[in-house]
Amino acid sequence: MIGFNVPPYVGTEFEYIRKAVENRKICGDGEFTKKCNSWIEDRFHAQKVLLTTSGTTALDMAMILCDLKPGDEVILPSYTFSSTATAAVLVGAKLVFVDIRPDTMNIDETKIEAAITRKTRVIIAVHYAGVACEMDTIMDIARRHNLKVVEDAAQGVMSTYKGRALGTIGDFGCYSFHETKNYSMGEGGALVINNSAYNEKAEILREKGTNRAKFFRGQVDKYTWVDFGDSYLPSELNAAYLWAQLEKADMINEDRLDSWNAYYAAFKVLQEENLVKLPSVPEGCIHNAHMFYIKCKDLNERTRFIAYMKANDVQTVFHYIPLHSAPAGLKFGRFFGEDIFTTKESERLVRLPLYYGLKEEDRNKIIALVLKFYSQKGEK
Ligand SMILES: *Cc1c(COP(=O)(O)O)cnc(C)c1O
Repeated sequence: MIGFNVPPYVGTEFEYIRKAVENRKICGDGEFTKKCNSWIEDRFHAQKVLLTTSGTTALDMAMILCDLKPGDEVILPSYTFSSTATAAVLVGAKLVFVDIRPDTMNIDETKIEAAITRKTRVIIAVHYAGVACEMDTIMDIARRHNLKVVEDAAQGVMSTYKGRALGTIGDFGCYSFHETKNYSMGEGGALVINNSAYNEKAEILREKGTNRAKFFRGQVDKYTWVDFGDSYLPSELNAAYLWAQLEKADMINEDRLDSWNAYYAAFKVLQEENLVKLPSVPEGCIHNAHMFYIKCKDLNERTRFIAYMKANDVQTVFHYIPLHSAPAGLKFGRFFGEDIFTTKESERLVRLPLYYGLKEEDRNKIIALVLKFYSQKGEK
């Protein structure tokens, strides 16, 4: 069986975890957490980065820092993972779902402005598959309406939009280092803070409401409880695993891109024959090969495709059930305007195995199967 995902492992992880253990510092904010934070700051030109326990808690932190009042509204796509929405629910916001564009599966920036009301406070831009949303337009709308922008860049680590790293463009950016993402620490994530006015508040929020970070820097002589907080520090053991990955970030990225490009080249012919739709990457965007998907004709064909691949020992998966039609989505939100693409396009999409170290022979087997599935279809 060729599985859908294998967590990234480059070989130095155990050495670094051992080092963390030998450092006698296994809680948060030790050597490896600091190394990861600085690496991300330097590489992505980010003002400040804080590792978190997950992409979800990075989103939670971002939403708390946006300082919403109950009843305020947050604009987001319905085609996303539950974490995007649940962070907004945490702060009492009403969810306003906006349709996606079919080419990138990202929020349709041309439909955002009409969804803004007096209560709108935040736009969450989800960079699906590591391909950027149309950020110039989104930032311009936010500026004109005095809204905050949170980038859900869980899938977008190492991607750029017009030369800028995803996560560093809005007010806050959120990364995930879950085992299904390009770089991993098991469970983990990071918050990118793009406005230094939020640095101290974020540190306090992350450190159980205390000013401990300031204390460790010697800026206060004792630390105390100063505000609302929670616990968002990952363990050094997890950060050590991530550090091994970040050191090899380019190698991982190139390996993934090789697989992505091989899939794309092989299936171009299917797109030319109008049998499938392939991902598209707008000009000015550089992606990180987080995901390779094809879009079948419809739900029926996708169901047959997944069964066919499974019968041939290849695991392929679909996602997401649009949030506005999920039980919690109905409870916490509403869809603005017409659902032209969200449901229809989500029902067509299927993801192929793509992970660091995917063997060429496995990739070739997958490619041959997909081509076979569609050639058999043509003969009927
Ligand atoms: C993975 C993911 C998250 C959540 O990240 P976790 O680290 O699993 O909590 C949030 N949003 C999107 C779009 C994701 O893909």
